[in-house]
Amino acid sequence: MQPTLFLSHGSPMTAIERNPTHEFLVGLGMGLARPKGVVCISAHWETEKPRITMARKPDLIYDFGGFPDALYRVKYPAPGSPDLAGRVATVLADAGMASLLDPVRGLDHGCWAPLMLVFPAADVPIVQLSIQPEQTTDHHLKVGRALAKLRRENVLVVGSGNATHNLMAWRGSVAPPPDWVTAFSRWLDETVLAGDSDALARYREQAPFAERNHPTEDHYLPLLHAIGAAGPDAKARKIHAGYDGPLDMASYAFA
Ligand code: ZN
Repeated sequence: MQPTLFLSHGSPMTAIERNPTHEFLVGLGMGLARPKGVVCISAHWETEKPRITMARKPDLIYDFGGFPDALYRVKYPAPGSPDLAGRVATVLADAGMASLLDPVRGLDHGCWAPLMLVFPAADVPIVQLSIQPEQTTDHHLKVGRALAKLRRENVLVVGSGNATHNLMAWRGSVAPPPDWVTAFSRWLDETVLAGDSDALARYREQAPFAERNHPTEDHYLPLLHAIGAAGPDAKARKIHAGYDGPLDMASYAFA
């Protein structure tokens, strides 16, 4: 049975630059049993209804601006899997949720940047599932819970976002995280490690400085997929800690 993961992906430069997150992701891959496929939920694909990539050879999407040329030349030819995409659509339908299979869409950097470090041989098929920021946190938890069956089918569910994500507050990697970030981080650690998925869905009301740490919800929502897909009996573990300025780079595994 596969775990589920929530990864803080940080800057796209992590794909090609040695930093603590890069080192963590490389090490993470070496410790994972090889899955049959990955379902990756990235902060960077927002749609009205859940959409699922089904291209056999998904292209990379370079969905960022102002980075060195080398980042736009990165290749990661991991295959897609129409079968796994169909399976995701089926488990969502079983939970009463309609979704759309997308034959064209490739992988955005929220998926390829971390996964090329975790699975460098590019031999594990990847399917991406979108987020719906117009919908509630409960919706995302429900989508996650629908994916729980996949763990037993040797599929790895990866939510890729950021534990905190206020880019306007970023003044450089060396600046220590301000108190409003660390207060949120403490709440997040406690709540994730307690496995309290309902409190995580209520974070806007319950966590200190929730809105300041997540001015938009996109980088938070994939955490709900990861904990939902783990199932009610899974235990959470913090697998990476660190800050990039005000960005909490925490990652968690659920198993
Ligand atoms: Zn991002």
